[in-house]
Amino acid sequence: MDYRDSPEEGEFRLALRAWLEKNVPKGWQDIKDDEGRRQLRKSWHRTLFDAGYVGLGWKVEYGGQGLSPIYDAILNEEAARVDAPELPSMISYLGQAVAGYATEEQKRRFLPPMLNGDVQWCQGFSEPSAGSDLAALRTRAVLDGGSYVVNGQKVWTSLALYSDWCLLLVRTDPKAPKHKGITCLLTPLDAPGITVRPIRLHNGLNDSAEVFLDDVRIPVDNRLGQEGDGWKLAMTTVSYERGAADVGYLSTILRQLDLIETEARGRGSLDDIAVRRALTKVWLDAEALRCNAAYQLSLRVQGKPPGPEGSIGKLLWSRAAHSVAHATLDVRGASSLGNNDDEWFERYLYSRVVSVYGGSTQIQKNIIARLLDMPRGN
Ligand SMILES: Cc1cc2nc3c(=O)[nH]c(=O)nc-3n(C[C@H](O)[C@H](O)[C@H](O)COP(=O)(O)OP(=O)(O)OC[C@H]3O[C@@H](n4cnc5c(N)ncnc54)[C@H](O)[C@@H]3O)c2cc1C
Repeated sequence: MDYRDSPEEGEFRLALRAWLEKNVPKGWQDIKDDEGRRQLRKSWHRTLFDAGYVGLGWKVEYGGQGLSPIYDAILNEEAARVDAPELPSMISYLGQAVAGYATEEQKRRFLPPMLNGDVQWCQGFSEPSAGSDLAALRTRAVLDGGSYVVNGQKVWTSLALYSDWCLLLVRTDPKAPKHKGITCLLTPLDAPGITVRPIRLHNGLNDSAEVFLDDVRIPVDNRLGQEGDGWKLAMTTVSYERGAADVGYLSTILRQLDLIETEARGRGSLDDIAVRRALTKVWLDAEALRCNAAYQLSLRVQGKPPGPEGSIGKLLWSRAAHSVAHATLDVRGASSLGNNDDEWFERYLYSRVVSVYGGSTQIQKNIIARLLDMPRGN
C-alpha cells in the first residue's frame, strides 16, 4: 500500500486543514464546568456534521459517506495536529455495534440522531467487579411483560454525565456460562431509576461516572441483537475503538514531543544526555505506533474488520503516552511535580489513565500473548 495521500486525499486534507483553522473553538480547553462540557461536546459534533466531517466511513445507507478509512485517519490526524476538541468517537465504535446488530427499525430510529449529534451516547460495560474480567458483570435484567427490569451498577462510564443514551451490557441468563448470558440494551439515561454520579478525575473534570440502575424498565424493542449476543457485540465494539484513531494519537504524541523539545531548547538542556535519551525514546515509540497504525489501516482499506490485534495499537499508544510524559519530567525536572495546575503535570497524570481505559496494559499483553500462541499464564 502507498501511504502517501492520493490527489483526492491530499485535496481533502488541505480543505479540512483550512476548515479546522477557522472552526476549532478558541479556548475550548478552559471549559471545565459540566454544562459547558456538555454543550461543547454537542456543538462540536454538530459543527463537524454540518461541514460533512462526521460518518466519513459509515455506509451511505446509514447516512454516512462510504469513504475509505483513510479519510477518517486524515480527520483524526489533522484534528489532533491543531488540538481540536475530541472527535465524536462514539460514531466510530458504538455506531459500528448499532449498525451491525440493529433491526431495520432500530437503525432508522437510532442512527440518524447518533450521526448528527442530537443524541450523545456512552458505553456502559465496566462494573465495580467486572473491568478486566468484563464477562463477570452482574447488572441483572429480568424480562417482565414487554420490558426488562434492570438492577445493578456501572462504573467509569466515560462522558455519561454529558450523554443521553447508553449502550448497556446486562446479564439476562445467570445460569448460562458467563460469556453467554449477556445482552445489550439501548438505554435512555433519563429513564426513571437511573442515577448518574460523576467521578471527578485528577484534572478536576467529571468526565467519568458511576451509573446506578434501580428497577429501570427498558422496553424489549430496545434490545440490540438477540439475548446472549452481548459478549460478541461488546467485542465488536472494543475492536473498533482502535484503528483510525491511532493516527490521531500519533499526531498528539508528536505535537507534545515538539513542545518538549522547544522547552528543552529554551532551558539549554538539549545536550543533556538524559534529555536526549528521553526524547529519542518518545520518537522511537511514536515511530512504532506509526508503523502499526499504517499496517492496521492497510487491513481496513482491504475491507478486513478489526480483530484482537488492535491490542498491539493500544499497547504502543499507552507506551508512547508514558514516554512523552516521562520526557516532560526529564526536561522540566522536579519543579513540575506537585503542582496540579501545571498542564504538563496534568498530562503526566493522564498518561497513567491511558494505560487503563479501553483495557489495561496487562490485559493487552495477555491478548497479544494469545495471538502469538504463547502459553497462558495462571
Ligand atoms: C478514565 C477511564 C475511563 C473509562 N471509560 C470506560 C467507559 O466509557 N466504559 C466502560 O465500560 N469502561 C470504562 N473504563 C473502565 C476500564 O475499561 C477498566 O477500568 C479497565 O478495563 C480495568 O478494569 P478495572 O478498573 O476493573 O481493573 P481490574 O480489572 O480490577 O484490574 C486491576 C489491575 O489488575 C490487572 N489485572 C487484572 N486482571 C489481570 C490478568 N488476568 N492478568 C494480568 N493482570 C491483570 C490490571 O491490568 C490492573 O492493573 C474506563 C476506565 C477509566 C480509568
